[in-house]
Amino acid sequence: MKYEAVIGLEVHAELSTESKIYCSCSAKFGAGINEHTCPVCTGMPGALPVLNKQVVHYAAKMGLATGCTVNRLCKSDRKNYFYPDLPKAYQISQFDVPICENGEVFFYVDGEKKSCRLERIHFEEDAGKLLHDEIDGTVVDFNRCGVPLIEMVTRPDLHSSAEAKEFLEMIKTTLSYLDICDCKMEEGSIRCDINVSIRPEGTTELGTRVEMKNVNTFSGAVRAIDYEIARQIDVVEHGGTIQQETRRWDDVKLKNTVMRTKEDAQDYRYFPDPDLIAVEIDDEWMKKIESEIPELPISRYERYLNEYGMTAMEARQLMDSFPKATLLDTAAASGRITPKAAANWILSDISKYLNDKEIELQDTKMTADKLVDMICLIEKGTISGAAGKKVLPALFETDETVEQIVERMGLKQVSDEGAILAIVQEVLAKNEKAVNDFKNGKNVTGFLVGQCMKASRGQGNPQIINKLLAQELAKL
Ligand code: ADP
Ligand code: MG
Ligand code: ZN
Repeated sequence: MKYEAVIGLEVHAELSTESKIYCSCSAKFGAGINEHTCPVCTGMPGALPVLNKQVVHYAAKMGLATGCTVNRLCKSDRKNYFYPDLPKAYQISQFDVPICENGEVFFYVDGEKKSCRLERIHFEEDAGKLLHDEIDGTVVDFNRCGVPLIEMVTRPDLHSSAEAKEFLEMIKTTLSYLDICDCKMEEGSIRCDINVSIRPEGTTELGTRVEMKNVNTFSGAVRAIDYEIARQIDVVEHGGTIQQETRRWDDVKLKNTVMRTKEDAQDYRYFPDPDLIAVEIDDEWMKKIESEIPELPISRYERYLNEYGMTAMEARQLMDSFPKATLLDTAAASGRITPKAAANWILSDISKYLNDKEIELQDTKMTADKLVDMICLIEKGTISGAAGKKVLPALFETDETVEQIVERMGLKQVSDEGAILAIVQEVLAKNEKAVNDFKNGKNVTGFLVGQCMKASRGQGNPQIINKLLAQELAKL
């Protein structure tokens, strides 16, 4: 029998607010153990939480960007459970009324547009971390306690690991466009729980699902999903039935094992948190949030494909980086160059520079104006394409205009025919052997052009050199 996999994800993203969700401790990653703690986030009795407004703002922003309805009245609920990294023995979350509901995320898989509905987005606090050490035993680090999270819960709309990966990538790209999460996977900024079931192909009823908790890389999610689909098919094909259970994915051993079964499924005994009042997002606030949403990644991707005539790979690379996409769109909006010309520079030399230096575009002095100016100088023939490559580092590193850099580096291209003719004649005079080879029918043009470029210290306009060289050789 053929089976169809059904996958639903619960994605957690840490929000990049300055302070934590219910106290003023820093939410930054990487401090010494328990440095970012106070009575509130360590769960001292009597300490009172105060909701960080930025969390509501960011969560609503993600909701708008994913087509959700935003509930204007945000309430908070306690989710009760015990774990050593959760000092209050409850997590403040949102239960029956999440801040956002009923969204949809679009993405492409192998050139085909797909979508996955979002059931809800709610905000909540992260838990602390247990650090296990062979010498000191286990240390509880509460720094992460109270770091704000949004949890995005999908409908079971995904059907393969490839779809799940593209969905996750789109969530990540959207978070980065909105500038609400640092998206540092290595610091656990985005993590997901994966629910998988299978059903006979062609049927619509949902099968029993298995949940895998806390997968923290997208490639790990792909491996976990592929493993679990294969495992479930194997169980069913051998006459077994799938148990509803939570399994732990081990991305080193590449297998999962049972964590808990449905019999010990948790009852969290949610109830409204009496320490927190509901917060209302009024019209003015809502407008402010709306105004901060840039053109979304999928829309840019489609524009690059359909209007700018880029390949899927080019469009994808540009879409993935908000600063690069913005550089491209701003450069194109100048109307002085073609989008393709800017895209070529961004995808090749600009990306290479940023990779080599390991810096982000927004942390450099590159601007769309500078890029456009440089491309225009090349198109006008004032500098060569090769000279453009030499100018580029200065565009990132200095405040000089393109003209100033060209001047300082002496890169202005010589297009004066008289000057170039003199160079061509001099090169011909000096290279008797090549001239003789030419007379004997050998192709020496490449060599002679090279000599002329050298003699002009790289500044000769190659088109004019080619033209005059052909003209002089024809005279021989
Ligand atoms: P819980 O809160 O107990 O984890 P939910 O009903 O909220 O359960 O579902 C969590 C996730 O599981 C959602 O992303 C949902 O789409 C997914 N899911 C639910 N049923 C199935 C199923 N039969 N197969 C795959 N995924 C499922
Ligand atoms: Mg779950
Ligand atoms: Zn605190």
